[in-house]
Amino acid sequence: MYSIGNWWEPATVDETLATLKDHPDARLIAGGTDLIIKMNGGQIDETDCISLHKVEELRDISALEDGGLWIGAMATFARLAKEPLVEERLPILAQGARSMGGPQIRNMATLGGNVCNGAVSADGAPALVAAEALLVLRTADGERRVPIGEFYLGPSKVDLKPDELLLGFVIPPHVGYGGEYIKFSPRKAMDISMLGCAVLCALEDDGRIRDLKIALGTSAPTPIRCPQAEALASGEVMSDALVNRVGETAVTEASPRNSWRAAADYRKIMIEELVKRAVKAAWHRAGGETDENDSM
Ligand SMILES: Cc1cc2nc3c(=O)[nH]c(=O)nc-3n(C[C@H](O)[C@H](O)[C@H](O)COP(=O)(O)OP(=O)(O)OC[C@H]3O[C@@H](n4cnc5c(N)ncnc54)[C@H](O)[C@@H]3O)c2cc1C
Repeated sequence: MYSIGNWWEPATVDETLATLKDHPDARLIAGGTDLIIKMNGGQIDETDCISLHKVEELRDISALEDGGLWIGAMATFARLAKEPLVEERLPILAQGARSMGGPQIRNMATLGGNVCNGAVSADGAPALVAAEALLVLRTADGERRVPIGEFYLGPSKVDLKPDELLLGFVIPPHVGYGGEYIKFSPRKAMDISMLGCAVLCALEDDGRIRDLKIALGTSAPTPIRCPQAEALASGEVMSDALVNRVGETAVTEASPRNSWRAAADYRKIMIEELVKRAVKAAWHRAGGETDENDSM
């Protein structure tokens, strides 16, 4: 049984924040695809709910003047999967959205809920972590911006105050970058990620690697970046040897656990393989051209 007490449906951000201030114990509910499951399973006791469903201003996806992207917290995965602006400015997020759940879940689930629930397996997270998204969080008394890397505190733990509403995400510009998101799960559809890897890659005019960003999901207690693996590639010419070293180093930066889904040792093998494949694909999309001596 759903254990819902009071139910409010504000129509604006200001109304939402006022309701949250008056009822700090109430839970925000977006698509409800996590929250309702937890209520149904008895993991959440009876709770009052503030629905975000009617807050249209939270659904906005728009271009920022600097070449970046604004994504409102209530943007659904179905929308992210087919929105031309997302495809243009952060296609790895659209890839993640397409890999998520099934059509019914994608129609309801929001990017805000995906990040606020703190799940390490979130398919929205690796792209946002690779792109260094900023979260815009607001209370009735003010606003703050938090880099996504600092928002995740641990498994299912995020830096979100009880009276805070996530308005959305500022995605810095990544003009000229190529990218790739690979979700690894035993089933191709309707399965939670066993591992996720998002890579962004930019090249110098002479073809050397200018910037490489690698983000992993389900590889540590929070979604992570792999700074040592990234640094190896900086200023280098792409080659099989380099990709191998990047993959091997990324594994040393991850700390996967044993779970009923997979053993940690298996995950380590797969992390290395996923990183290598995603780096190669991102490099190709950035304009990298194959050397005849390499299999790239
Ligand atoms: C069958 C099924 C398949 C699934 N498959 C996948 C999958 O493949 N990949 C994946 O990543 N996930 C999957 N999920 C999990 C879930 O759908 C996602 O995590 C989803 O993005 C959650 O978003 P939501 O809008 O439904 O969040 P909700 O359930 O509404 O909320 C989740 C949490 O976030 C908080 N919250 C929501 N919005 C805000 C906001 N704007 N400000 C502050 N707090 C907020 C809520 O209070 C709650 O604590 C699946 C779930 C189901 C049931």
